[in-house]
Formats: sequence, C-alpha cells, structure tokens
Amino acid sequence: MLTRCRLCPVRCGADRTTARGACGAGEYAEVVKYGLHPYEEPCISFARGSGTVFFAGCALRCAFCQNYEISHGGRGEKADAARLSALFAELEERGADNINLVTGAHYVPQIAAALRLRRPKIPVVWNTHSYETEEALREIDPYIDVYLPDLKFFSPKISARYTGKADYFSVASRAVSFMAKRRCELQGGKMVAGCIVRHLVLPLCVNDSIEVMRWFLSLGTGAYFSLMGQYTPCGESGKFPELSRRLTAREYKKAEDFLLASGYENIFLQARSAADEKFIPDFTDKKDSLF
Ligand code: SF4
Repeated sequence: MLTRCRLCPVRCGADRTTARGACGAGEYAEVVKYGLHPYEEPCISFARGSGTVFFAGCALRCAFCQNYEISHGGRGEKADAARLSALFAELEERGADNINLVTGAHYVPQIAAALRLRRPKIPVVWNTHSYETEEALREIDPYIDVYLPDLKFFSPKISARYTGKADYFSVASRAVSFMAKRRCELQGGKMVAGCIVRHLVLPLCVNDSIEVMRWFLSLGTGAYFSLMGQYTPCGESGKFPELSRRLTAREYKKAEDFLLASGYENIFLQARSAADEKFIPDFTDKKDSLF
C-alpha cells in the first residue's frame, strides 16, 4: 500500500517509502505531541484527562485549522508499531481515561499494527475529520471503541473554498454514517463506546451548520452531537476576510436554537468562552503538558 498510497480519498498515489504524500505522511507514523487533554467533551476528558496523541500531517488541510502548524507540513517523532504501542501504554500508566488518536487517518495501517501489538485496557477514541474512505475505516474499526468524527461542511462550495475539496460532504457523510452506528455506552459518565459527531460553526456559515445538523438528525442513530462555537482565527484564515473574526453570539445562538428545537437529547453545547487560544494545544514547546 505504501508504495502507491491510495489510503484516503485524495488517492495521491505517493510512494511513501521514499517521499511524502499530499497529506505530508511518509512511511512511519509521526507523533508531534501526546499528553492528558482536559478540554474534550466531559465524557471523553472525564476525570483524569484524555490520553491524546497528535499526529503530523493531514489529508483534509482546512485553511483555518487550529492545529495548522502540525497539520500543514508539521513533523514529529517517527514511531514504528512498537514505539506507538509503548506510547499508548505510557499514557495508560499516567492515568489517561482513554487513548485519543487525533487525525490519524493517513496512518491507519501503522496505528492498526500498534494496536495489534497490545490492546490498551482503556477505550480507544478515533478523532477524525471524517475525510476517510470506508475501506480505511473498516481496517481501523476493530480497534476503536469511541468515534469522535467532525462533520465540517455541507456545501461543496464552502468545503472547496476552505479545503480545496468539493467532495467533502459526500465522503464524510458516508464515513459518519458508518461511525454513528456504534452504540453509545457510558459508565458513570465516561463514554466507553459510541460516537460523538462534532461540528464547528464558522463565521457567516450558520445556514451550512443547520444543513449539517438536519442531515445528522435524519440519520436517526443514538449518536451524540457536539455543537462547537470555539472558532478562533488560525492558520491561513487571514486569506479569507470572513474568517478573520470569532463567531458572534447571535451566530452560535441561531445554530444552538435549531438543535434545541429539534428535541434531540444527546447533545453537547459549548460555552462561547471556549473560543480562546488558551484552549489550543501548544505544539512549540517540549513540555509534557499539552497546554
Ligand atoms: S493518505 Fe496521504 S499519501 Fe495516502 S493517498 Fe492520502 S494524501 Fe496520499
């Protein structure tokens, strides 16, 4: 697979044994940072924090990515299956409530190999942009307990503007349909199995958010929906005048009102105070902590 990579919908065909693909990935998984994350949804960060692993590179590459420095050309520690497996074990020993794999879609075979070596005793979370093929998802599925997929855009025009990918919704909606089938199970408030679909409301895009929610609600699964209002200008957002500001209270409220009016109960809403750079992991330092 790695000599002519077609793992993700970009299907760039890179020989990853000698070069990097369009996602920035080479032969080995690259880990930029890992640690205990206190700011995920309460059932994910739970008591001691989510054992979060940030991988370098990304196949989707949103212009406004809050992890821009690692998703667009970022480099990390090259980790083979044994190293990745040891790193998961270290997080478990540090008391993590789960292993949270952030944007690992371009490393599915490498991550699956690590999880085959040793299965963590805590839930494994697949934290994804959802721009994934169903084949790749089926490969990682046996090792995943909790899915944490983003569903970012409905309109092809908007996804093309911010990611260069007009097919985002057609790809991601298939992936989310697959992930949302996972039955939710909480133990004492901690999610041990299930799916939380996340959506970040963007400035001037509330109507698109409503289409995303309308589609999600039509799925009729018991998956949770997490409506996020934490947008903060990052990365290349300066190239898009409409992305140079945070959300207004009115914009978030319009999206929130739609979700509440639906009567759907499995939801998470975010306080507007979450739109603060202090909640964005610091990838520049070498400290153990993420923030
Ligand atoms: S995972 Fe990376 S290298 Fe493979 S097809 Fe996608 S963009 Fe190309």
